[in-house]
Amino acid sequence: MEESFKGWPPCDICGKPVDKENGVLSVNPNEAEQAVLRAPRGVLSFEEMRALPEGPKWLWSHARCGSDANVVWIEAERFDSLGKMFDHTLHLSEKNWYQATNWRETAKRFYNVPSA
Ligand SMILES: [Zn+2]
Repeated sequence: MEESFKGWPPCDICGKPVDKENGVLSVNPNEAEQAVLRAPRGVLSFEEMRALPEGPKWLWSHARCGSDANVVWIEAERFDSLGKMFDHTLHLSEKNWYQATNWRETAKRFYNVPSA
């Protein structure tokens, strides 16, 4: 059963409520590219994959609270439904650096956005 949307999470930086008009997800793609370069080549075992260094995390915040280094921004209105979140996941999957970020966990934070 689908859980109903209970509003956007509070800001990761200031902890205050965020609404769709000023909420953004952001990440530092340069940090992510560095993490990709550090990763070993070839097929990795499960244990090796688990031991990989963590790349940058997506930040959910007010636009004004975000970091200047996080030059990739996704405004809340661009992923305010499951369909849009899916589109963004496909779009990000074309970037070589996206796998070094925690997009999977980030998308799960917004599982309960409206489905239509
Ligand atoms: Zn904030």
